[in-house]
Amino acid sequence: MVGVQQSVINLKMYINGEWIDADNRETRAIKNPANGETIAIAPEGTTRDAHEAVDAARKAFESGIWSGIPAQERAAYLFQVADKIDENAKALTRLETLDNGKPLREASYDIADAAACFRYYAGLITKPDGFTYHVADPMQAMVVREPVGVCGLIVPWNYPLLMSVWKIAPALAAGNTIVFKPSEVTPVTAMKLFEIFEEIGLPKGVANMVMGAGPVVGEEIVTHPEVDMISFTGGTKTGKHLMRQAADTLKKVSLELGGKSPNIIFADADFETAVDYALYGIFSGAGQVCSAGSRILVEESLYERFVSHFVERAAKIKVGPGDDPDTEMGPLVSEEHMKKVLSYIEIGKQEGATLALGGNRLLENGLDKGYFVGPAVFVDVKQNMRIVQEEIFGPVVVIQKFKDEAEAVKLANDTVYGLAGAVFSNDGAKALRVIKKIRSGITWINSYHPTYNEAPWGGYKQSGIGRSLGTFGLEEFQEIKQININLQVEPTGWFSHEK
Ligand code: NAD
Repeated sequence: MVGVQQSVINLKMYINGEWIDADNRETRAIKNPANGETIAIAPEGTTRDAHEAVDAARKAFESGIWSGIPAQERAAYLFQVADKIDENAKALTRLETLDNGKPLREASYDIADAAACFRYYAGLITKPDGFTYHVADPMQAMVVREPVGVCGLIVPWNYPLLMSVWKIAPALAAGNTIVFKPSEVTPVTAMKLFEIFEEIGLPKGVANMVMGAGPVVGEEIVTHPEVDMISFTGGTKTGKHLMRQAADTLKKVSLELGGKSPNIIFADADFETAVDYALYGIFSGAGQVCSAGSRILVEESLYERFVSHFVERAAKIKVGPGDDPDTEMGPLVSEEHMKKVLSYIEIGKQEGATLALGGNRLLENGLDKGYFVGPAVFVDVKQNMRIVQEEIFGPVVVIQKFKDEAEAVKLANDTVYGLAGAVFSNDGAKALRVIKKIRSGITWINSYHPTYNEAPWGGYKQSGIGRSLGTFGLEEFQEIKQININLQVEPTGWFSHEK
């Protein structure tokens, strides 16, 4: 694999084992969000490119070159991918920081998690995957899992490599062939992953990558009749559109969408732990995390103390370029996204909420060329405000007050989203009681954010359909077939004429 280059990186798409430019030679400049400089030039793929990729994936699937080999052999490829990611971890970490802006420390965890995810699915695919039932004499029913076929995988920019791997690893483990599209904003590490696929000799056509705009290449993948399934991570609005687009060919659709997750803090919580995780919950990844704890709900008697301590600590977070080892929070991913986040801060002010901290673009200390927004904390908010109801996807948090358990649950569940949530309390029974009432798929008690390959990831309500990770994440990429075996081979006699 090529290491980190100082000069601009020329990206290519990977279709049927070949590195190619866009069909019409158009390109897109990929920027470093810390300073706006161009770090890479990416092909701006066309519908024709997407079509070619689907074609290659279909042929590879039908040939059985991947789905037809023993699971142990597929696993061996995936273990090699994991090893290569580890070998190149330093270079991949730096590239992720360069492309997405996140601090090196965060990027290094993502890269390690990506390798671990490949290992997890390489191991899982060799484990038992079916059942038998003795349904009736003389019939034995067998249930087997099979690959879905050609899978279209579409991902966002917030964890460029990790979100890709959460889909690619289980899809390949299950024996599918793939057409993958990274975000047009952050395609760099994805290309490095495909270089690894080439290096380990993954059969041609099994893994294909197209780059470019969602409404162009993404939409072609979603509507293409030869694609059997779409696995999408991104915004809820895009997810709804994509589901409509996929309806005509009735594809299997798996969606990991947005969130506005509640972090409930009771007065009996361990105070320092709660403040610490609340900061981590919203400001890690500069709030550009789908599961971010963007609504902090604090019990009345603790509220003033919590807000004052939280604001004091948030103000000390070191914001800067991701490649500065002292940086604790990086820039937003793009100028366009920064403008969206800043516009939400304006909306909050106009709605009458009080900004207890931040709210501006940061221009001092050499940050003026990047897309930096410091931690922003809103108080005096009302439940119907847009800053309480809508996903901002930036370092912006609202802190609300609640009287009792019932009100905490009511406020927590009062958005269209249902992705994540947490409860902080030293009363174990209460914490569990409350978390069970939260309508979200990913929850924590006395913690926020830790995510494990073993545990299913996904949302209730408008936060998605289906689950990533764990055994559930593999099953998303599998069809289930029943095979009924007659143990008494003789005619049924149903249409006997001898009466
Ligand atoms: P986005 O919806 O704008 O784009 C996501 C991907 O979809 C990109 O690759 C984009 O090119 C593609 N796309 C856009 N329009 C398309 C179309 N019409 N057809 C097909 N593909 C299309 O999201 P984003 O701004 O890249 O990412 C941020 C969003 O992702 C946030 O809402 C966040 O909550 C969500 N997210 C969710 C999870 C999760 O696990 N639930 C994880 C990470 C991010």
